[in-house]
Amino acid sequence: MSIEITVEHTKNKKEKPSSMDGVVFGTQFTDHMFILDYDAGQGWHDARIVPYQPIMMDPAAKVFHYGQTIFEGLKAYATEDGRVLMFRPTKNIERLNISNERMSIPEVDPELALEALRQLILTDREWIPEGEGNSLYVRPFVIATEPTLGVSPSRQYKFMIILSPVGAYYAEGINPVKIFVESKYVRAVPGGVGMAKTAGNYAAGLKAQEGATELGYSQVLWLDGVHRKYIEEVGSMNVFFKINGIVVTPALNGSILSGITRDSIIQLLKHWDIPVEERILSIDELEEAHKEGKLEEAFGTGTAAVISPMGELNWQGEKMIINEGKTGELSAKLYETLTGIQKGVAADPFGWTI
Ligand code: PMP
Repeated sequence: MSIEITVEHTKNKKEKPSSMDGVVFGTQFTDHMFILDYDAGQGWHDARIVPYQPIMMDPAAKVFHYGQTIFEGLKAYATEDGRVLMFRPTKNIERLNISNERMSIPEVDPELALEALRQLILTDREWIPEGEGNSLYVRPFVIATEPTLGVSPSRQYKFMIILSPVGAYYAEGINPVKIFVESKYVRAVPGGVGMAKTAGNYAAGLKAQEGATELGYSQVLWLDGVHRKYIEEVGSMNVFFKINGIVVTPALNGSILSGITRDSIIQLLKHWDIPVEERILSIDELEEAHKEGKLEEAFGTGTAAVISPMGELNWQGEKMIINEGKTGELSAKLYETLTGIQKGVAADPFGWTI
């Protein structure tokens, strides 16, 4: 496939935020966006960068009715020496196509997707906020646009990329959060779509999140949908626990999203010779470890926060306080190392940045 992307520059540049202080995540968008169309028979065609604008959709488009859609999330950073870095974008493209496959959406050419990311980010590079912790959040997504109500895979799609300047996740330093272990609702089940980054997973999680917020908790810890006892994820992050010197994270079982931060953490831990296990982990085992004083650290991992330490777990009213509610040493070291690589100030032994 030849990679040709046409560019139409905006004639009305928007005003950029003068500072990222107080800018709420995902509320500002840059001057341009990327679009690629798909029609059955023709395949993907007409790759283009155009001014950021609303799109016209037929109300019968399948995405509105049956949720045939997937998305991705990654970040680009402006380095102090004037480079622009993306963090492991080929992993996001790989996962985009895993999600596509699960949702019966045609594969997007990985080379074209990478080139689209590169060209769009460079077109809007002046939107990448400088300063500690600031970055450009990149949101690729695919929507089913065929305007017919039959329940069947769409014959038309749009693959788009939009960009949003975002401020530091931790404005006041990395801070542990309180987590509610969810026992009523589940996020995903084996054979379902938990391993895909698809809209329905997030819509289905809102109710539990609302309940946790009402009780003063930041996120829910999701248990498996069958036994309701094995740990899967935390909010929209993967989850790690340091138990008696060993770092444990739930094994990818089909209902857990394969996080790129998760994979990076596992590789870093192995590189440092810190024991790490991907395995089944029950809430009972965690409770037991906590009782015995062996639950040393707990943290979520994801693109937005990178590392989010957990200071308290509420499991059916019992409050497990972890590391006295403070950020653990390992959590802090992982955060510093990973954000250092992302911003191009630390060595990148794995070649993760492009
Ligand atoms: N789990 C879910 C459900 C997510 O939405 C995310 C965010 N993409 C993650 C885990 C973390 O993935 P990543 O490290 O690739 O951001």
